[in-house]
Amino acid sequence: MQNNENLFEVKDLVVEYHTRSGVVNAVDQVSFDLKKGEILGLVGESGCGKSTLGKAMMRMIAKPGKISSGELWINDVDLLKLSENEMRKRRGSEISMIFQDPMTSLNPVQRISDHLLETIHTHEPKEKKASALERTQALIERLGIQRQRIDEYPHQLSGGMRQRVMISLGLVLNANLIVADEATTSLDVIVEAKLVDQLKEIRDEFGISIILITHNIALVAQIADRVAVMYAGHIVEISPVMDLFDDAKHPYTRGLLQSVPTTILDEREELYKMPGEPPNLSNPPTGCRFHPRCPDVMPICSQEIPVLQETTEGRFVQCWLYQDHPNKEMSLDGKVS
Ligand code: SF4
Repeated sequence: MQNNENLFEVKDLVVEYHTRSGVVNAVDQVSFDLKKGEILGLVGESGCGKSTLGKAMMRMIAKPGKISSGELWINDVDLLKLSENEMRKRRGSEISMIFQDPMTSLNPVQRISDHLLETIHTHEPKEKKASALERTQALIERLGIQRQRIDEYPHQLSGGMRQRVMISLGLVLNANLIVADEATTSLDVIVEAKLVDQLKEIRDEFGISIILITHNIALVAQIADRVAVMYAGHIVEISPVMDLFDDAKHPYTRGLLQSVPTTILDEREELYKMPGEPPNLSNPPTGCRFHPRCPDVMPICSQEIPVLQETTEGRFVQCWLYQDHPNKEMSLDGKVS
């Protein structure tokens, strides 16, 4: 279960991509923390930077991208200060990541046992093969895969089983944090629901923290303790999950929730369609990046970027509606009212 101690802290993280049309800040000055044993849902439209943020936490940003500034603290160590060799040791042993398609991470010509034993051998070279094998068998059995299937190849397992193998690659080394990037997206709803339940059980049993990156806000309601909402490279709201669903503060979060059906049975339900499109990040709007689409826009919104500020205990919002500014009362024609 969750406790109040921080496991992971992201401070002022910036990830940039150098493209032909200029520098794109896919993650821009992002800060948040993650408690031990906490499940944090990271949500937003595609292209908002959530997957980039997940990869940055693993220091897995490929060129032409790079982490240009910030800090990534886990257990009193800033991962950005480590050499690539030291970082490689921590990937898997401390932080592990699972993706939408596990086949991109699993070697198709290696048995499941080979993947697990190789992981143990790389990080714990002194571990005897027999005890490593016993560990891996016990673990996959715990995750609902029969022991004997450890000798099968990835393509012989179902999609849900392959995701559980990916989870086991982190658990076998006692990782503290699993970053799951759209890990349930390609599964059918029944398998998805089972995997979500299992992630919760794993958190309870192993005390690990999980970041669930998803566009599926309903999934977050089922599993997460807190939610971070991303828009155009910024985190615009962080909140305990139930508070967010009861009373979303940021206009973007409100739009996101209104665009999700509350029932699959009522075809007459009218869903909100958010106006406009997410911005081009090589030339983002000035001020609040949501201002061209915001129903509550004020003159200050296009002039200055609000900060992510705590409005009530545990609730953080990046929006001028909740912050003071001398120009806030200015009317749209620029006159002070
Ligand atoms: Fe809307 Fe202004 Fe808040 Fe941005 S800062 S979300 S434009 S009210």
